[in-house]
Amino acid sequence: LDTPLYADLGGDAEVSFEFFPPKTEKMEAQLWDSIETLTPLAPRFISVTYGAGGSTRERTHNTVARIARDTSIPAAAHLTCVDASKDEIAEVADAYWQAGVRHIVALRGDPPEMGAKFEPHPDGYASAAELVAGLRALHDFEISVAAYPETHPEALSAQSDLDNLKRKLDAGAARAITQFFFSPEAYFRFVDKARAAGIEAEILPGIMPVTNFASTLRMAAMCNTEVPSWMARLFEGLDDHPPARQLIAATITAELCRKLYAGGVRSFHFYTLNRAELSYAICHLLGLRPQGQVA
Ligand code: FAD
Repeated sequence: LDTPLYADLGGDAEVSFEFFPPKTEKMEAQLWDSIETLTPLAPRFISVTYGAGGSTRERTHNTVARIARDTSIPAAAHLTCVDASKDEIAEVADAYWQAGVRHIVALRGDPPEMGAKFEPHPDGYASAAELVAGLRALHDFEISVAAYPETHPEALSAQSDLDNLKRKLDAGAARAITQFFFSPEAYFRFVDKARAAGIEAEILPGIMPVTNFASTLRMAAMCNTEVPSWMARLFEGLDDHPPARQLIAATITAELCRKLYAGGVRSFHFYTLNRAELSYAICHLLGLRPQGQVA
């Protein structure tokens, strides 16, 4: 790809940021510091993930409701089908609507036990496509769904996974956000196939800035993301050098974003892991500046 220099990335990129709900007061403080740091970049939206279990769910709700109340950035709440009846999901969705939240990231979700198979609740939704249809029938939510450039691990085939993405969009989702990936070619191939399959919706690339290589390897194995061998080489021997790891992470992630930009991508979704600086640096390289300042 003929990639432009960073100085040529003229500030026409847009971003959104994903966070997870904090478990402790310290984590909560870190989350709000991060949101405060990233807010001046005027993200399109900020989303908050959703886990299994009552307390996690409450934390997601509280975090999203506070973003909607206390910031100027549109808040998006992730919502899954795991362990919930349709009525329970309707209650959660109603509460978001009441709190002024208009954007839901609708997912099937995974069972809380690592490696367990998803079993739908007897009165619940069996897939994200069903959840999208259910939510659309309740309120006029803007809905995003998940997409998998390297194919979801449970999919029968890449084609059946793409058919499933189309079902989710046809059910009323506005856009897809991808699982993280490290190969821009994998993303572009996937977008080409989606377009050929008649999918016109936006397919936002999910960008994971990697600082902890070991945990990235574990996550990638679970979700079918290929980790290139050169990446292991770049993180080799840096366990005791966190600042060096940050610099390597920034370089790798910036290169990925630059290649995506060269291929026409103008909107990027960052998995921030609740830490602002790395995402902030990549956004800066992409030409974003705090609103009101010249890029
Ligand atoms: P679905 O779209 O329902 O697909 C699940 C699998 O079933 C796929 O393999 C699909 O191909 C297959 N399938 C579905 N319907 C059919 C059909 N009719 N025929 C054949 N095959 C079918 N998880 C969380 O728990 N909380 C989160 O907050 C969260 N956020 C995420 C955000 C993003 C951007 C992404 C990419 C993932 C997120 N996940 C989250 C992970 C997600 O829940 C898992 O990847 C889960 O295993 C699948 O969810 P889905 O919404 O893609 O499911």
